[in-house]
Amino acid sequence: MSEKRVYTFGNGKAEGRADMRNLLGGKGANLAEMNLVGVPVPPGFTITTDVCTEYYEKGKDAVVALLKDDVERSMKLIEDTIGKKFGDPSNPLLVSVRSGARASMPGMMDTILNLGLNDEVVEGLAKKTDNPHFAWDSYRRFVQMYGDVVLGMKPVNKDDVDPFEAIIEQVKSQRGIKLDYELNVEELQQLVKLFKEAIKKQTGSDFPSDPVEQLWGAICAVFGSWMNKRAILYRKLNGIPDDWGTAVSVMAMVYGNMGETSATGVCFSRDAATGENIFNGEWLKNAQGEDVVSGVRTPQQITLEGSRRWAELQGVSEEERKSKYPSLEEEMPEVYKQLNEIQDKLEKHYHDMQDMEFTVQEGKLWFLQTRNGKRTGTAMVKIAMDLLKEGEIDEKTAIERCEPNKLDELLHPIFDKEALKHTHTLTHGLPASPGAATGQIVFFADDAAKWHADGHKVVMVRIETSPEDLAGMSAAEGILTARGGMTSHAAVVARGMGKCCVSGAGNIHVDYKKRTVEIHGQVFHEGDYISLNGSTGQVYEGEVKTRPAEVSGYFAELMDLCDKYTKLVVRTNADTPHDAEVAKSFGAVGIGLCRTEHMFFEAEKIKAMREMILADTTEDREKALAKLLPLQKKDFVGILKCMNGLPVNIRLLDPPLHEFVPHDEKGQKIMAEEMGVSIQKIKERVASLEEHNPMLGLRGCRLGIKFPEITKMQTKAILGAAIELKKQGLDPKPEIMVPLVGTYKELKLQKEVINKAAKEVFAEEGMELPFKVGTMIEIPRAALTADKIAEYAEYFSFGTNDLTQMTFGYSRDDINSFLPSYLSNKILDVDPFQVLDQEGVGQLIKSAVEKGHKTRPDLKCGICGEHGGEPSSVKFCHRAGLDYVSCSPFRVPIARLAAAQAAVEE
Ligand code: ADP
Ligand code: MG
Ligand code: MG
Repeated sequence: MSEKRVYTFGNGKAEGRADMRNLLGGKGANLAEMNLVGVPVPPGFTITTDVCTEYYEKGKDAVVALLKDDVERSMKLIEDTIGKKFGDPSNPLLVSVRSGARASMPGMMDTILNLGLNDEVVEGLAKKTDNPHFAWDSYRRFVQMYGDVVLGMKPVNKDDVDPFEAIIEQVKSQRGIKLDYELNVEELQQLVKLFKEAIKKQTGSDFPSDPVEQLWGAICAVFGSWMNKRAILYRKLNGIPDDWGTAVSVMAMVYGNMGETSATGVCFSRDAATGENIFNGEWLKNAQGEDVVSGVRTPQQITLEGSRRWAELQGVSEEERKSKYPSLEEEMPEVYKQLNEIQDKLEKHYHDMQDMEFTVQEGKLWFLQTRNGKRTGTAMVKIAMDLLKEGEIDEKTAIERCEPNKLDELLHPIFDKEALKHTHTLTHGLPASPGAATGQIVFFADDAAKWHADGHKVVMVRIETSPEDLAGMSAAEGILTARGGMTSHAAVVARGMGKCCVSGAGNIHVDYKKRTVEIHGQVFHEGDYISLNGSTGQVYEGEVKTRPAEVSGYFAELMDLCDKYTKLVVRTNADTPHDAEVAKSFGAVGIGLCRTEHMFFEAEKIKAMREMILADTTEDREKALAKLLPLQKKDFVGILKCMNGLPVNIRLLDPPLHEFVPHDEKGQKIMAEEMGVSIQKIKERVASLEEHNPMLGLRGCRLGIKFPEITKMQTKAILGAAIELKKQGLDPKPEIMVPLVGTYKELKLQKEVINKAAKEVFAEEGMELPFKVGTMIEIPRAALTADKIAEYAEYFSFGTNDLTQMTFGYSRDDINSFLPSYLSNKILDVDPFQVLDQEGVGQLIKSAVEKGHKTRPDLKCGICGEHGGEPSSVKFCHRAGLDYVSCSPFRVPIARLAAAQAAVEE
């Protein structure tokens, strides 16, 4: 724990730096850094994240006592820097109290603006600035924010109306005005009075008029907001630990609401949706803080070019645009020039795309925040490759800049161009976050989560979204909003999640009560289908067909770059030629796991399979297997052909036989008819296959040992297929894998069967062919005795699903009954079936690799569990010295990137 609790900044000096984000939070660290590089920032100070931890350990009073001297000293420094005094009506200093964690959590925690106002100070401020409207506007905003955040007036239930908003609506409707900024001084004064009354009524206490009391209330409330519901959920979704804590930054206010020459805005140094190197953003005149992102007023574009594009998308004429929604570039050319220079300077300083907040007070520009901008997967890849080409970052940095899991977005289907030709475009909004979304309309976050859990694909349609909608947004395929710009909450959060989002579709009319949305006279109900194109902003009627994504352009360049550094190669888990083809197009260089059992579920095969299961004698079994052989061979021809020249690791039959027989009366009757036996016989056989612990029962190589003819048939099918292709001049590379081996003797016996069968096919076909025999390491005993097993195995493939199951003793299929309590009690940090347990299971892998190599130095090792496509697990595999990972087709690029990162990190 750091001794120093408070870090000041201002006037080009700062005690903190950009690399102190763990202690100062991202916001605090960058406020310090901006001072150091000469960007105009109002003075202030940051209370460390460690103090947040202290707050939760020691409580409010203790923390206030610990901070008192430092905060007083730092407030004095602000006062001296700008020549104003906190609480002094004749020349008042007002401050903002802001939250800021190590990782950015936009909108999840609370911020309070204009703190330091009371009935006397507001009069002083009005006089000093000669602008009563501004003073009272600031005051009503302050009472509202303080009431919501510190005094707990914000409704817990999101369907309830914020009491302050209700009052504002009421006052506005008295005079028939629509917008907040149209309120006159008397009305603003009325608001303050009504707000205070509402506070007194609900909390029983008066609004605190002492600025010092306000300050402590706000600081503690920001610490408190670390544990609010939406912040907790956001951390859970983004894997941010609860114990990081938030920092609190207190800084002098600058005012964007002082009139026509004042403004506030948000801007990005590049396009966060597409990655294009285009400066862009939104602003509002005579506004403050969140006004731009809240979607209450329509924000204007910063650049002229952006403004024209926006007008085109919104169907706004050039005339109307110029008079009603001019760009900052046109309205305040001097400010724009300076803003443009600073955004460029900041991007070059951080060597990354910046997301910035600024305020213009009477023509003077101030920066209030900068951070590496959240972006879509597409933008992430493009920006990294562009910065590399621009010489801003090197190759290794470009690889490290890309987050493997975010590539997922680039692998999602896109709309089929042909299908789009026949689709009716209902309307369009802003292309806030790219992607293709098709689903059923829902209007509320809870419904989105519920419908999604029931297996529906949903599109969430809202007037605007708020941080409370997070869970719903995460469950939806896409989000459509009527209000809000490119920097609205919906847009920013959707981009962060990689969710398709169309925002600000002004032509849609949402009726929450009726649960309908009307678009150009056409009414859609909850449950109706619509589709969104987040890349163009178009909204389509009904379901639109999609087609698979492909690796091309910048994405392909990144993948090539990865190959340059990577040591670990990536194979795929694929059971069909189609999956294999997809994986190959994503760069898989072989099949790491081909499960043969899935092949048995087609009509002809399942019949032959059941005959085999029903057989009483080896002879009968062989008869059934003889029927299966050509069918299996055909499957293998398909896969080996598709992966021509690349290794294909085929696993022998693995699951318990009961999975192949029907358990219901009707199914058994059909089977009896098909097999020409009595239903009684079927019932008896099904019952005989019943086991108490099928996962630990007759499965894997135990099947092949009990019924060697199965192994023999599969070997002949695999090698027969390979020979057939070889005769056609192709280059098949089959590998035969024995599953669930626990002792070397099992493998030894199975290998004998395989080799004997191989000899037979070779003789029958008059042709030989090299092939490998290996085993899965998925039973702890196999890992522990890997040296002996390696005498018979030419390769190991770690089956980490079963290995995790048997190392922890957790049933894969039943873990959900206790996983939530294990996670909440912090017994587990993550689901070990998703993220490899490096500490325990990892030990078994590491030692098995070592032992195996001692026996057989050229032993090849890979992993084929679900973990093969999970970035942290892939990195572990690299460190453990594996040769390859194998994962499902759609995770291949993710694994390739993670593998390259592991190599770069080394
Ligand atoms: P968030 O983390 O939710 O973005 P912020 O702390 O950045 O919250 O603040 C919310 C809004 O208030 C932002 O638009 C910010 O620019 C504005 N703001 C914060 N501090 C000041 C200040 N001292 N003067 C003017 N505006 C401010
Ligand atoms: Mg905010
Ligand atoms: Mg902010």
